[in-house]
Amino acid sequence: MTFNILELDKTFELESNFNCRYLSPTKLHHFLIEYYDKHIDKIGCSELGKPIYKLTLGNGSKNILLWSQMHGNETTGTLSCLDVIKFLAEDSAISKKILEAFTLDFILMLNPDGAEIWTRRNILGIDINRDFLTSSSIEMQLLKKVASSKKYDLAFNLHDQRTIFGVTGKKEPATLAFLSPSESENREITETRKKSMGLIADIYKEISQVIPNKISRFTDEFYPRSVGDNFQKLGIPTILFEGGHYPKDYFRQNTRRYFSLALITALYYATVKNNWEENYEVYETIPKNSTSFYDIIYRNVQLSSINDTKADLGIQYSEEIRKGDTEIIFVAKIEDIGDLSLMHAHKEIDAEGRYLSLPDGKLPKIGILADFKLDEWIISNGKKLEHWV
Ligand SMILES: [Zn+2]
Repeated sequence: MTFNILELDKTFELESNFNCRYLSPTKLHHFLIEYYDKHIDKIGCSELGKPIYKLTLGNGSKNILLWSQMHGNETTGTLSCLDVIKFLAEDSAISKKILEAFTLDFILMLNPDGAEIWTRRNILGIDINRDFLTSSSIEMQLLKKVASSKKYDLAFNLHDQRTIFGVTGKKEPATLAFLSPSESENREITETRKKSMGLIADIYKEISQVIPNKISRFTDEFYPRSVGDNFQKLGIPTILFEGGHYPKDYFRQNTRRYFSLALITALYYATVKNNWEENYEVYETIPKNSTSFYDIIYRNVQLSSINDTKADLGIQYSEEIRKGDTEIIFVAKIEDIGDLSLMHAHKEIDAEGRYLSLPDGKLPKIGILADFKLDEWIISNGKKLEHWV
C-alpha cells in the first residue's frame, strides 16, 4: 500500500451533505441518525439539553479519541470529521488498514449550544478548553467521562483559528497550524510529546506538498487548564489542529479539505509507523504561527483635512449568525489605524492618499463599521464598490 497525498487530494471528496461553514446542531444530529445510526452513541446532553454524540468506527485494538467544536464557532473540525468518516466508511486500502488497526471515537460538536449561536464559549459563558481542572461545564464532564472509559492511545483536539494568523517569515496565511501541547511550564519534550511531534512531522511533510508554506506550529506555551496539555500529561499523545485562512476562502471549504487530508495523513502514519516519535525533531523546524494579518488593509489613507496625516487602515471581519439564517455573515470593522507596514492583509489596497470621510462627518475610530468614502471611492462593509448607481 502506498500513500501519495497528491493522488489522494485529486480523488478525495468532501461529505456533500454539508457545504457550508455554519453547521446547525439539529442538521448535524439528523444527519448522524439518518446515515450512521448503528455507529452513534449519545454520550449526554449540553447545558441546554442538546444531544452530544460519539461516532465509532473500526475494530482495532488501539483506541483514538477525536473531538471537535468544543469552541462553538469553530466548525472546520466537525466538517472534516464527517469527511474523514465518509472516507473511512468507503472501501479503500488505506481506510481498511486504519480501521483494522484502530477503534476511532469521534465526539462531533462537543459544544452544540455555542455552535447554534456561533460563539466560542458554552451557553453559560465557560471556555470549555480552559475548564479541564474544575470541569464546571457539563460538556467538559462528558468529554472526561468518554476519555476515562477506556485506554486511549492517541487524541485529536480539533479547532479553528482566526484569519489574523500567518506563517512566521512568510507572507502566507496559516491555513493549518498544529501543536503538540506542553505538559509543564518548562515545555519539556517528554516521551509522550515526542510521539505527537513525530506524527505532526509526518503531516507537515505530506501536506506541505499540497499547500506549501501555509502550515505553522501553534505556540507551545503551557496552558495548565487546557485539555490537550492535560491529556498529554496523562500520557495520551495529543495533537491539536487549527484550521485557518486560505486565500479567498472565508467559508473555509478549502481549509476543510486540507484539514481532512491532514487528519487522514495522521491516521495513516499512526497505522504504519512503529515508532511514532521517529523524526520528531522536524516538528521544531515548522515555522511558528504569527499574528500578522488583517482581512483588509487600505494603505496611504489621508486622515485629516487640516494636516497631512497619512496612515494605514486595518480592517477585520467579525463573524455573525442572524436568527433564521443558514450561513454566517461577515461584518467589516476598523481594527487599527496607523503604521501597519509590518502587517499583511488578505486583501491590500493602496488608497494613494485619498481622503477618508465617514458618514455624518465622524472622525475615524477603532471598532466602527468599515463603511466610508476615500475621495470618489465608496467602501461598503470593507470592500471597494466597483460599480454603483
Ligand atoms: Zn478553539
